[in-house]
Amino acid sequence: MDTRSKQHIALISVHGDPAVEIGKEEAGGQNVYVRQVGEALAAQGWHVDMFTRKASTQQPSIVEHAPRCRTIRLTAGPEAFVPRQEIFEYCGEFLEELLKFQQQAGFEYSLVHSNYWLSASVGMEWKQRQSIKQVHVYHSLGAVKYQSVDNIPAIANTRLAIEKKVLETSERTVATSPQEREHLRSLVSTIGNVDIIPCGTDIRRFGAIDNIEARQKLGIEADEKVIFYVGRFDPRKGIETLVRAVGSSQLRGKSKLKLIIGGGSRPGESDGIERVRIEGIIAELGMSEFTIFPGRIGDDLLPTYYAAADVCVVPSHYEPFGLVAIEAMASGTPVVASDVGGLQFTVVPEQTGLLVPPKDDAAFAKAIDRILSNPDWRNQLGYWARTRVENQFSWDGVAHQLGELYSKLLEKPAKTLAQSGA
Ligand code: UDP
Repeated sequence: MDTRSKQHIALISVHGDPAVEIGKEEAGGQNVYVRQVGEALAAQGWHVDMFTRKASTQQPSIVEHAPRCRTIRLTAGPEAFVPRQEIFEYCGEFLEELLKFQQQAGFEYSLVHSNYWLSASVGMEWKQRQSIKQVHVYHSLGAVKYQSVDNIPAIANTRLAIEKKVLETSERTVATSPQEREHLRSLVSTIGNVDIIPCGTDIRRFGAIDNIEARQKLGIEADEKVIFYVGRFDPRKGIETLVRAVGSSQLRGKSKLKLIIGGGSRPGESDGIERVRIEGIIAELGMSEFTIFPGRIGDDLLPTYYAAADVCVVPSHYEPFGLVAIEAMASGTPVVASDVGGLQFTVVPEQTGLLVPPKDDAAFAKAIDRILSNPDWRNQLGYWARTRVENQFSWDGVAHQLGELYSKLLEKPAKTLAQSGA
């Protein structure tokens, strides 16, 4: 019998709800990853429950996504939005609710796949209470992140300790790029098992519409030069670098320039603060005339925006993987990205886009200009970008690798803390 049928697995994403609209209220890559992995694994035959924290009284407690795949929202702390740096104190309550849910359901999960350090702590505590296998994906690594931020938060030591312990005690850590594995080994611990399985994207959805049709749909003229950003509004995303690059003399003189900055919630709400700051810089540099903020871009229009762009820019200070880069590439759009983290894995310089030092406005301006000034080369880069994603980053391929990993782990007895040497 296929090991995956009837096996119940739990994906935990305490702060990244897989069932919410992506692009606002801190919802980004982790939410997309969990939802896509969950659905793809369910399609393979696994019974997948994705656990997250209930962040509003309006939200249903259970959302069915597909046969054998649902999101379960647990009450832990207030049923209201809580910024991720304040969620740790509710993780104990989260586990208690999860165990209650499991008891009422009348079956036991055989494997927990935790996402981000908050969920890692829930998964590790669960392992203490029940024989269950744990697979962990970091999504962001404190040891790297704290190198690029000015204010280290009070929770940092707790996070770093949990990130070390989960590497050493889980059955398997999944790094999403060779760069992440290197960081784990050099900055976190040499103990523990690490596999590399990248994040993926939907190669049918991204790439389904071409540049001409996309521009017609969005009302963009054929000769406009479109520079596109999409993602959360978080200072770490480096949107300011992009804005200053586009506002620099290198690009400013170009005719028919259009800067589209997608994503973000309403002013005053979590990432709305960064959006207001960015809008202020745009106004100060006199760029309002050619800059558009479409707000959150939903699933229906996102492939159209990517396809309409001449270049997609990912100016993050630190990026563990960066789904936006592979979504753009899948859409045949070259990427100019910071030379950091997972972007060094996904973007191949001079082949699928360009990599430049983070926070370097002038370098971004030069790289964007090179692509905008050479339409034939731009199309060639776009072609190779699409090919790279088809070969390496399709969701089907990624979920297949994860499913194989789960099956292999479930054939073995669970690792205890003593065995892990921790
Ligand atoms: N996203 C979206 N609409 C928006 C803004 C973002 O669908 O308006 C999605 C984007 O397509 C990507 C994810 O949010 O799938 C962001 O993931 P990424 O890994 O690039 O960044 P993270 O949010 O994890 O830092």
